[in-house]
Amino acid sequence: MFENLSERLSGVFDRLTKQGALSEDDVKTALREVRVALLEADVSLPVARDFIARVQEKATGQAVTKSVTPGQQVVKIVHDALVATLTGDEDPGKLKIDNPPAPMLMVGLQGGGKTTTTAKLAKRLKERDGKRVLMASLDIYRPAAMEQLAVLGAQIGVDTLPIVAGQKPVDIARRAKQQATMGGYDVYMLDTAGRLQIDEVLMQEVADVAAVTSPRETLLVVDGLTGQVAVEVAQEFDAKIGISGVVLTRMDSDGRGGAALSMRAVTGKPIRFVGLGEKMDALETFEPERIAGRILG
Ligand code: GDP
Repeated sequence: MFENLSERLSGVFDRLTKQGALSEDDVKTALREVRVALLEADVSLPVARDFIARVQEKATGQAVTKSVTPGQQVVKIVHDALVATLTGDEDPGKLKIDNPPAPMLMVGLQGGGKTTTTAKLAKRLKERDGKRVLMASLDIYRPAAMEQLAVLGAQIGVDTLPIVAGQKPVDIARRAKQQATMGGYDVYMLDTAGRLQIDEVLMQEVADVAAVTSPRETLLVVDGLTGQVAVEVAQEFDAKIGISGVVLTRMDSDGRGGAALSMRAVTGKPIRFVGLGEKMDALETFEPERIAGRILG
């Protein structure tokens, strides 16, 4: 479906005269192709433009290396710039969950993969980090979602807070905190209710829960295939409640991963994990190299 960017660029450079350095015109021509590739990968237009401008500055005048073609060289420059943009100071897989019991808030829209990701992450914390984890569903609007978390918990061997009908989300959060403290848990994860779209009631509810628990991490779970919508959702959640990181789900599908670049460039928030399927093991630490490779095709 997508033409490989390296091949495309080779074509561009074949038509250009060979010189000792990448000239401004060569680079411009090549970056037009890169821009198309970024847009095809669903990177937002302003982010693509800004990125291209920075790469252009860096690439112009670079000596052409003998061992690679100019096309390969530009791809390498673009690849490195993508990795640099996607890489922050933080270690994506290392969550701030010292001082037990550490509260973690899981937020996002309905259907984004929040409940699945909560369980996947709990399993990871248990198995890789040896943490004792308690999960609680705050989705009082969808009893099925509460049940779903309990079923997943049983499946992965992670405790869930018993469901008590009629409690408000803040009350459930308080109960989770209490049980986590008394039960000697290292982490308690709060799977908040999602809506089909952002609304004030939802935001207020999440803000209230955050106020009573002071979460150490607030992870936004978004469908990576929704591209720019995912970025807008992240901006809204960050403005209203403050998020500490992002999990991009459905990265096992065909999408080219451009949402990751826009997400990082626009929100400045680290992408911590990617969801790669429905199974409980299908969660990986975010790797900038992999996404860069995927965006370039
Ligand atoms: P929630 O409403 O945000 O809690 O969403 P769910 O966790 O219930 O997930 C909705 C659907 O997406 C379920 O069928 C999940 O199995 C599926 N899902 C979640 N994460 C992924 C992922 O990374 N890849 C794929 N292919 N499916 C996922």
